[in-house]
Amino acid sequence: MPPVIDAGKCSRCGLCAAICPLGVFEQTERKTVPAVRYGEECWHCNACRLDCPSGAITLRIPLNYQLLHTDASQLHR
Ligand code: SF4
Ligand code: SF4
Repeated sequence: MPPVIDAGKCSRCGLCAAICPLGVFEQTERKTVPAVRYGEECWHCNACRLDCPSGAITLRIPLNYQLLHTDASQLHR
């Protein structure tokens, strides 16, 4: 599911567009809120959400991904 940018929080830095490995965001002009251009390409890696300095990005994780989630810190006990 496509990520969502809260335009009210976004500082328009463009970092999300620069770092997304799938090119989901597009910032056509500097200092504008990036558009979610290819939302269906998002593989929910979380990089944009973690790196956004304004906390403006929300990821919507599909239910089947949530059900398959494994906490890696619990695997080597
Ligand atoms: S990284 Fe965050 S603050 Fe920067 S353009 Fe993207 S959504 Fe806006
Ligand atoms: S979660 Fe990853 S793939 Fe999806 S938009 Fe953010 S950086 Fe791109």
